[in-house]
Amino acid sequence: MTELWVILISAGLVLGISAAFAALLLVAERYLANYGQCVIDVNRGSRRLEVRGGETLLSTLMGRQIFIPSACGGKGTCAYCKVKVLEGAGTVAPTEQPLLTAEDVANNVRISCQVKVRNDMAIEIPGNLLNVKQYTGAVERIRDLTHDIKELRIKLTDPPTIEFVPGQYVQLMAPAYKGSPEAVYRAYSIASPPHDAGYVELIIRRVPGGTCTTWVFEHLAEGDEVSFNGPYGEFRLSGTDAEMVWIAGGSGMAPFWSIVRHMKQAQIARKCTYFFGAVRKGDLFFTDELRQLDRELDWFTFVPALSAPAESDQWDGATGLITEVVGKGVSDAAAKEGYLCGSGGMIDAAVKTLKGKGMPEEKIYYDKFT
Ligand SMILES: Cc1cc2nc3c(=O)[nH]c(=O)nc-3n(C[C@H](O)[C@H](O)[C@H](O)COP(=O)(O)OP(=O)(O)OC[C@H]3O[C@@H](n4cnc5c(N)ncnc54)[C@H](O)[C@@H]3O)c2cc1C
Repeated sequence: MTELWVILISAGLVLGISAAFAALLLVAERYLANYGQCVIDVNRGSRRLEVRGGETLLSTLMGRQIFIPSACGGKGTCAYCKVKVLEGAGTVAPTEQPLLTAEDVANNVRISCQVKVRNDMAIEIPGNLLNVKQYTGAVERIRDLTHDIKELRIKLTDPPTIEFVPGQYVQLMAPAYKGSPEAVYRAYSIASPPHDAGYVELIIRRVPGGTCTTWVFEHLAEGDEVSFNGPYGEFRLSGTDAEMVWIAGGSGMAPFWSIVRHMKQAQIARKCTYFFGAVRKGDLFFTDELRQLDRELDWFTFVPALSAPAESDQWDGATGLITEVVGKGVSDAAAKEGYLCGSGGMIDAAVKTLKGKGMPEEKIYYDKFT
C-alpha cells in the first residue's frame, strides 16, 4: 500500500513538473522570446516583407494583407492554410504531421498556422492569393431562409466592389463576443453573382455551438459593419461544354445560386441538372425562383428532393435520399461533369453514386463544408 502511494505521488509530481515546465515554455515563447525583424521573401522576389518575428506564418502574412485561406481559423485542423516554405521553417512540427501528405513533405509544403516566424524565410504561394483583399461592408439584409439557414446581403463599402469567379468563397470575420474571446474567420461561398459587384450574399447554416454561426444567428443585425477577405478557391465551372450534374444540400446551395444567375446573365447555355436535397418542405428555399429558371432556360433543370416529407407537406416531387434521386435521374454519366457542395458525408456518398454511374473521378468537382 505504502509503495503504491509513493509510486502515485512520484508519478503525480513528474506530471505536474512537466506540465508546469511546458506552460513556462509557452509563456516564455509568447512574451519573452524576441525574434526581432525577419524578412519573408514571397514568390522568389515578387514581394519582400519585413516583419516582426514570433507570430505564426499565417497571422504574420495576414498582418501584411496576404490572406491564406484557413477554414478552422488557425487551430491546425482544416489543413487549408498549406504554404510552400522554401527556406527558414525548421523541421515539421508534430501538429502538422497528420495534415501533410508524403508529397507535401517532399515539396516543403507546411501548415502555415503551425509554423512560427523565427528567422528569415522564403515562401511560394499561388499568385492569385496576392490579389485577395480585405473588404468592409454593411449588412443590408439578414433574413431566414429556413429554420436554420439565413441569408446575408452585404453592401460593400471599402472597397466598393468585388471581382470573383462564381463558385469562390470569402472568409467572414466574426468579432469577439460574449462566449467567444477572440475574432475568428470562417469560409462562406459567395451566393451572389459577379455582376452584382457592389454586394456579397452569403447563405449560412447554423451549427449548434459554432463560434461564427452563433454570432450570425444571435448577434448580427441589419446595419452592422462586417469584414471579410477573399475571394478564394478553385470550385468553379470548367472551361468545357460538357453537360453537368449539380448536387447540393442545405447551405451548399450558395455557389450554385451564384453560378446559375451568372450563367443566365452571361448567356452560358450549358446543359445542367441541379439536384437539391432536403429533409422536409420547410428545409427547401429558393424553390420558386429555381423552378422559374427551369421554365425560362431550356438548358437548366431543377430537381428538388425530400428525404422524409411529412404528410402535411403535400409533396409530389422527387422523394428519397439525394443520392438515390441522383442514381435514378442520371444516365450516360461518362461524358458529364459533377459539381457538388455541402457536408462531407453527402459529398462522399454523391461522389460514389456518380462514379457508379460511370463519371470519371477527375470530372467531379466539390467544396466540402465540413
Ligand atoms: C470552402 C468552404 C466553403 C464553405 N461555405 C459555406 C457556406 O456557404 N455556408 C455555410 O453555412 N457553411 C459554409 N462552410 C462551413 C463554414 O466555413 C463553417 O465551418 C461553419 O459555418 C461552422 O462555423 P462555426 O464557427 O459556427 O463553427 P465552429 O466553431 O468552427 O465549429 C463548432 C463545431 O461544429 C463542427 N462543425 C464545423 N462546421 C460544421 C458544419 N458545417 N456542419 C456540422 N458541424 C460543423 C466543428 O467540428 C466543431 O466541433 C464552408 C466551408 C468551407 C471549407
